[in-house]
Amino acid sequence: MLMLNIPSPIQVLELPLLKEKGLNLYVKRDDLIHDLISGNKWRKMKYNIDKAKHKNYDGILTFGGAHSNHIIATAFLCKHNQLKSIGIIRGDAHVEKSNTLNKCEELDMELSFVSRGDYKEKDSAQYIEKLQLAYPNYLILPEGGANEAGVKGCEDIVAEIDVDFDFVTVDCGTGATLAGMVRELKPHQKAIGVQVLKGRDFISEEVLKFSPNTAEKFEVWTEYHFGGYAKYKDELLDFMRWFCKETGIKLDPIYTGKQFFAVFDQIDKGYFPRGTNIVLTHTGGLQGIEGFEKRYGVRIY
Ligand SMILES: *Cc1c(COP(=O)(O)O)cnc(C)c1O
Repeated sequence: MLMLNIPSPIQVLELPLLKEKGLNLYVKRDDLIHDLISGNKWRKMKYNIDKAKHKNYDGILTFGGAHSNHIIATAFLCKHNQLKSIGIIRGDAHVEKSNTLNKCEELDMELSFVSRGDYKEKDSAQYIEKLQLAYPNYLILPEGGANEAGVKGCEDIVAEIDVDFDFVTVDCGTGATLAGMVRELKPHQKAIGVQVLKGRDFISEEVLKFSPNTAEKFEVWTEYHFGGYAKYKDELLDFMRWFCKETGIKLDPIYTGKQFFAVFDQIDKGYFPRGTNIVLTHTGGLQGIEGFEKRYGVRIY
């Protein structure tokens, strides 16, 4: 049986800096839900898996890159629920074969590699229609599990938090996780999304698409991408090492590292009023560290 650590624990951080600034910081440890399935990827799969099972689909078909947390979560959860899984992977099989994908194959996921050009079509109605015809009995999920069922699963991240917080923060790829979280906020609470991709704030649009009339409840910080998706600067890795030494909590360089860096930077700059309670969401993603280290030839921890 699949054992999951739900509700995930919440951990208080004890750091001299926080005393000095008069802030209470907590971490919602979704990374501890399971060691292979990243926290928010489990949240996003929860209702999608239910749907696939109850509607008697043969399996789930979805999209991702070679190190995708979503792809491995899909492979794993399908295997545990007697469903088949197909991963449409961006790039060339020879170049892209990663540890993540090897694990997916061990979990009986069928991998299909498509060119970067074709991959860009993955959200077009035509492409989806073609895929659905080819795989009629598969539930097709968008990249990252970013559909309504996925968003719904993320509501629980906030619903489970049993401290009376003022701010909750999360890292954003598509914004689906944030879209679920804002639905559970009380009137005095605010969510902050840290965008890990470079560019304009498309996250807010995504959040408002799934959760209309929530514009007052959240904001998005767009300046902490460190050059773009999966890009980094030494400053980021130095921060992650410091944070791990002080708290024992490992972060990943693609998502959570950027969020936590942003929060500590804004603490420094005085964004948060004295006396506020802040919850950072650890969305998991630690399985991606290995691929990142290989790609850049660095060692994080
Ligand atoms: C996928 C992922 C995210 C991004 O979630 P979105 O819902 O796409 O914004 C954040 N953190 C981790 C660890 C992830 O794997």
